[in-house]
Amino acid sequence: MGKIVGVGSLIVDIAAFTDHFPVAGETALGKTLRFGPGGKGSNQMTAAHRAGAEAVIIGRVGQDRLGELMLAHYRSEGMTAKYIKLSAENETGSALIEVETGSGQNRIIIVKGACAEITADDVREAESEFASCDLVVTQLETSIGSIMECRRLAEKHRKPFLLNPAPFQEVPPELFSGTDWVTPNETEAEFFTGIPVRDRDGAAAAAAALLKRGVKHAVITLGKNGVFYSDGNREILLPGVKVDAVDTTGAGDAFNGALAAALTEKMEIETALKFANCAGALSTTRHGTAPAMPTRAEILRCLKENYGI
Ligand code: ADP
Repeated sequence: MGKIVGVGSLIVDIAAFTDHFPVAGETALGKTLRFGPGGKGSNQMTAAHRAGAEAVIIGRVGQDRLGELMLAHYRSEGMTAKYIKLSAENETGSALIEVETGSGQNRIIIVKGACAEITADDVREAESEFASCDLVVTQLETSIGSIMECRRLAEKHRKPFLLNPAPFQEVPPELFSGTDWVTPNETEAEFFTGIPVRDRDGAAAAAAALLKRGVKHAVITLGKNGVFYSDGNREILLPGVKVDAVDTTGAGDAFNGALAAALTEKMEIETALKFANCAGALSTTRHGTAPAMPTRAEILRCLKENYGI
């Protein structure tokens, strides 16, 4: 079993389902309210853990009920919460999600709360985990200082670094330069390269632009159309795995966590991408984010059914 470490967001998803979105000033009736463990960092660690890796997250929650919900998730999954600090000042991060049941559309407000205050020191305190891990993974849902520190420690301990550049925002240019794996979706790829990703050519051009910025392996996820990969010598396009999707939130997190787990096992690149493509697809067949992450057994079954491996 490989080990993954990284700073990441811990955010509780609070989803309300309604027949129609209220306009400003209106009160709409909803049907169900669901609380679930979420946050890109935590979701990706959960996906990696279920896919077979040991996953160590560095993060912060508030001293409140939502923080307890996140910690209960780590207990029930059997994942370590050793580096999840309790914030003295801020509440646990939350995502207020409104889902319009008929159209399936959603509107989301994210309150980063304690996730925004994670420091480079928090990361340094976990340095021994960087020394013993196989891969460092982060996203852009915590402070830039904490992310840059992860990158520095990955370099210091000569560990590969995977950046899922989401949600997109301006970052220091050196974050991309020399980074082993960068995994934007279509919108994020366009934000960072200025190149619209609507087909294979667009994906190839955006990947080339990322490689020009110093990225070693560019992986662009294409939703139901699968994934495009390039390292400058080799290009791989894998169409999406056919599934009955009911909720695509968290698909990118499932993909990234599973890819990270596969890379720690030194899987061949195309096999690792297929493993992640299966995980992303399977996650869309269930509601929610972390609870929708597939198990290793489910991913292996999907690999067999779709790729004969
Ligand atoms: P994000 O959730 O970050 O926007 P994507 O929508 O690109 O990311 O999805 C990530 C991955 O999940 C895709 O590369 C693919 O493997 C899988 N995926 C997403 N949506 C579907 C779908 N409808 N059918 C099959 N696979 C999907």
